[in-house]
Amino acid sequence: MKRALVFGAGGFIGGHLVERLIADGYWVRGFDLKLTSSPTHANEFLFLDARDATSVDRAFSGHEFDEVYQLAADMGGATYINAGIHDADVMSNSVLINANVAKACVKHGVKKLFFSSSACVYPQVQKDLSTCYEDDAYPACPDNEYGWEKLFTERMLMSFQRQYSLSVRIARFHSIVGPRSTWQGGKEKAHSALARKVALVEPGGCIEVIGDGTQTRTFLYVTDCVAGIRALMDSDVDSVINIGSDVLISIADYVEMLRSLSGKVFTVKYIPGPTGVKDRHCQVTRASQLIDWRPTTDLRTATQLTYDYICQQIKLPQKLKLV
Ligand code: NAD
Repeated sequence: MKRALVFGAGGFIGGHLVERLIADGYWVRGFDLKLTSSPTHANEFLFLDARDATSVDRAFSGHEFDEVYQLAADMGGATYINAGIHDADVMSNSVLINANVAKACVKHGVKKLFFSSSACVYPQVQKDLSTCYEDDAYPACPDNEYGWEKLFTERMLMSFQRQYSLSVRIARFHSIVGPRSTWQGGKEKAHSALARKVALVEPGGCIEVIGDGTQTRTFLYVTDCVAGIRALMDSDVDSVINIGSDVLISIADYVEMLRSLSGKVFTVKYIPGPTGVKDRHCQVTRASQLIDWRPTTDLRTATQLTYDYICQQIKLPQKLKLV
């Protein structure tokens, strides 16, 4: 039986990844500060702080791990990472976690390390304004410090691969949606914040949307994301890979989709605020060619499942809510 250690296992994507690994027959140890988004299915769980090297070292005790997945990060949506007021924490917390995990992997002879990078590594100004091919990340100019930290860690891990022969797999996630994504509390991303606003608005009411609605994004369903992680880990591909959808939608059209799914009548007021880059169009040619992976869940279904989850959460008594 293969053994996996998952950092960030209490979070949205980490929680879904643990479920998938268990279903694939792995023995899984989870590691997180807390259960951010759901109860865990891991065989064992450590509630510790990965900024502390000794705690990270403890995570490797007692077993030899075939695979380590590093998804723990201090992150959130544009109102968190583009506001400018959390930058020191975002950068220093995540860089400590990432360095601690990489060093422990080398020390404990781990065969493969997965790292979750982000679409935020891409600069606003690209060769073609609407595309994010993997090579478009250079010349580097991420529009926030979170993106700089991710790009730095990509490079740090590639240097671990060269110097210590640690096998590293890096995926750049592009706006992952689905049940159990953070939907309140200040770290939620645009899609979940919009779904929450639509779920809460009274018929005939108004929702506020940050920006002017013309920003474009792609949204990938979480089980497709996890399938991409697994395909990458099972491959011998050591170049960075986008894991996202290539179906582009404007924020205004996304709000319209939520409106039609909810069946509600409401107005929209666009307000100033942090939005992140104007356009970000994920390209999945490399993933398709190198690891035979493509998204399979259509955007409307992904949005419906996310919206239904948030509606259910809103109805729960306060103390029972998962986040
Ligand atoms: P999440 O916030 O739900 O999960 C991250 C987890 O990391 C949380 O449970 C948190 O408690 C944990 N964590 C933070 N600091 C820690 C520490 N010091 N020690 C131990 N655990 C700690 O986020 P997510 O959406 O599941 O994202 C997972 C990974 O994917 C992150 O690295 C994120 O940067 C990356 N990513 C996510 C998206 C997305 O759309 N969700 C997009 C791009 C990249």
